[in-house]
Amino acid sequence: MSLKKLVVLGTPSVGKSAITFQLLQKYFVDFYDPTIQESFRTTFVVDRQPISCEIIDTAGQDEFSSLRSQYFQAGDGFIFVYSITSKKTLEGLSDFFLQMDRIKEDQPTPKILVGNKVDLSSARQVDQKVGEELAKKMNCPFFETSAKTRINIEESFYELVRQIRNMDNTKKTK
Ligand code: GDP
Ligand code: MG
Repeated sequence: MSLKKLVVLGTPSVGKSAITFQLLQKYFVDFYDPTIQESFRTTFVVDRQPISCEIIDTAGQDEFSSLRSQYFQAGDGFIFVYSITSKKTLEGLSDFFLQMDRIKEDQPTPKILVGNKVDLSSARQVDQKVGEELAKKMNCPFFETSAKTRINIEESFYELVRQIRNMDNTKKTK
């Protein structure tokens, strides 16, 4: 299977970089320059099969930047991240969803919704139920994660990989 592009999206400071580092380097970065956008190549073994991925940790482009629409065009799968400690970051995702729908024109697109920073439960502003409902509306799996404690970090990416594979298999049998 070819290299799959997984794009990590969301408003600033929800933990996109921390999730990416935890996934790839297995440690928690307390501070990472919020303006840096980077991509990393890696191979996961999911359900005993290897898959080569490029993870794109996005940073700070607004809806009207051509870079952001490029991600949507080039991406094979999307991780939409908000922080459970900020309602605003959940609301901020609606812009991303609209843009994705415009660009993908309602083609089914592998994606997951992630509520990050679940270790900060005393600062919670978004109930788990609210995340679940949004995921249902988006027709995608939902995880609450912590880039600090590593909860659900691998699981969420693996679920995205499974969706990408399922979609490739459906295309092949058509
Ligand atoms: P980005 O702008 O979305 O890439 O956000 P960052 O990854 O730079 O994270 C923003 C801040 O939140 C940093 O200080 C991180 O250390 C912190 N952070 C990210 N994820 C978590 C998490 O799961 N738990 C906690 N407690 N802090 C987090
Ligand atoms: Mg970042």
